[in-house]
Amino acid sequence: MSGLYLHIPFCASRCIYCGFYSTVHPKGHIGINIQERYISALCTELNLRRNYLANESLSTIYLGGGTPSQLLPSQLERIFYNIYEVYGCRFDDMEITMECNPDDITIGFANSLKALPVNRISMGAQTFSDQRLQFLRRRHTSADVRRAINLLRTVAGIDNISLDLMFGFPSETLEEWRDDVDTALSLEVEHISAYSLMFEEDTPLYRMLERGETSEIDDELYRRMYNLLIDNLTAAGYEHYEISNFAQPHRRSRHNSSYWSGVPYIGIGTAAHSFDTNSRQWNVADINQYISALENNRLPIEGREELDAKLQYNDLITTALRTSEGIDLTKLSPANRDYLLTCAEPHIHSRRLALGNNSLTLTREGIYISDSIMADLMAV
Ligand code: SF4
Repeated sequence: MSGLYLHIPFCASRCIYCGFYSTVHPKGHIGINIQERYISALCTELNLRRNYLANESLSTIYLGGGTPSQLLPSQLERIFYNIYEVYGCRFDDMEITMECNPDDITIGFANSLKALPVNRISMGAQTFSDQRLQFLRRRHTSADVRRAINLLRTVAGIDNISLDLMFGFPSETLEEWRDDVDTALSLEVEHISAYSLMFEEDTPLYRMLERGETSEIDDELYRRMYNLLIDNLTAAGYEHYEISNFAQPHRRSRHNSSYWSGVPYIGIGTAAHSFDTNSRQWNVADINQYISALENNRLPIEGREELDAKLQYNDLITTALRTSEGIDLTKLSPANRDYLLTCAEPHIHSRRLALGNNSLTLTREGIYISDSIMADLMAV
């Protein structure tokens, strides 16, 4: 089993916190032209790399970005037609996710989704406060999220919707975060991903922080917000199956789960990463270089890294430990198992890690500081 990721690097405008690669394409003729050239390049890359996942069958497809819902229905149809041509897959057995912005979901767009094999939508709601949405420079309002979910369900017939939420805005209170969580629950979506607001370098938000125009919330409030999230979502029947991800029964993201369980995947498009279990490789993060390479039948690969035993061990730590199943100790060599358990011992003792029969998992206390625990467990 394997996954296919396609990166669609177009956004109508940039949000202040975003570190993903995307371009704000010009509207009208020129914008359409670059989108068409990009999709042609994407289809060429699909063809050139058709043997990358040699003996694996495709089980999930994920259109991420950027904003895939900025594409025209005809452009999306063209992409899926090419996937079918290259992989000859039966879409009905697969999980096929598309990221959408709430304001792109019109009746016309929802109708056009019916002609596509997409069966799961991931939507960035972020918050239901219009004031905080404006702060993030999101283009939608909280009313747009409700309207979009309604259209996706009633017009497009989508019964698998994931919402992204954010917490930890400057001066956000615990009660305001509780309201966001309650609103998300009232929408009865199948899946929720929740992240604290990150201040990534080279973003406008980071520069605001440097200039002292905004601030991070303190650790204690962060913990209380995270606690509230876990308590309220699990009480409502969601399974907390990964540090930031919650699913109704049988609604885990199969595509993202494959990233955390070492399943191979191919990434097509600008800045996309691929993994074949022995190596990783990634494409250029520049739309002009990407298109130009493929228009000349060259692969747009910028870098490649062989995964030696140490890197494979470290990968396992940073992926498997994120999940509720944790690290399967039987997958480790005796030497790596001993090394891991020695490094883990202080955290097991302080109940930040739990040692099961053949597994090592983060406890609730450990989740808050998962990054530093992972750093302690890695081979140097
Ligand atoms: S968060 Fe999404 S919509 Fe906003 S700039 Fe990033 S990719 Fe584009």
